[in-house]
Amino acid sequence: MNVFRAYCRSAIIPLFLVAAGCGEPVDPRVAALQKQFVLATAPSGERTVSSIRNEFLESEDSSPAPAEIDVVIRGRINAGELPPWESGKTAFVLTDATGHSEGDGHDPHTCPFCSRKIEDYVVQVSFRDAAGKLIEIDSREAFGLQEQQLLVITGKARIEDKVLKVDATGLYFVKPGVAPNSADEPSEEAIDNPGQ
Ligand SMILES: [Zn+2]
Repeated sequence: MNVFRAYCRSAIIPLFLVAAGCGEPVDPRVAALQKQFVLATAPSGERTVSSIRNEFLESEDSSPAPAEIDVVIRGRINAGELPPWESGKTAFVLTDATGHSEGDGHDPHTCPFCSRKIEDYVVQVSFRDAAGKLIEIDSREAFGLQEQQLLVITGKARIEDKVLKVDATGLYFVKPGVAPNSADEPSEEAIDNPGQ
């Protein structure tokens, strides 16, 4: 280990070394969080928020509703006119980005069709520690997230107070200009025939 790295690993880090950059991010909690949750490749099996909600709501009549469902959701950080962030926590509101309209311009909050039933497009995403406690690092700090950012979230979904909530197990940053089902993602055939 060279002297520079030894300084960086010591508990007392002189400010000038932080400014010089001891490797990003500086906060070890943030580094651990990113290592645990950030996905290098896009997960497959995306579903719309409304189809997940229907799976919960329709099963209430006959069989017991599932307690939770493993889901993959593509969405933008967007809560309409409200701020999407739960301040100081790793939690935010995502709006389904797999809507009826092609392109990036569609916003269910302003769409005359989707906004009539906005609960079918909105999901509350939370990141929890091993004990199930909400992680107390602001999402913007934890993952460098911004409003309207396009993500794919994996996690366990449930309905609570008529709102779809997901405890995230993974987060994938969708690269600008890469459409769903393009060359860098599994084809539908690959999804239908896993292992072939
Ligand atoms: Zn719409």
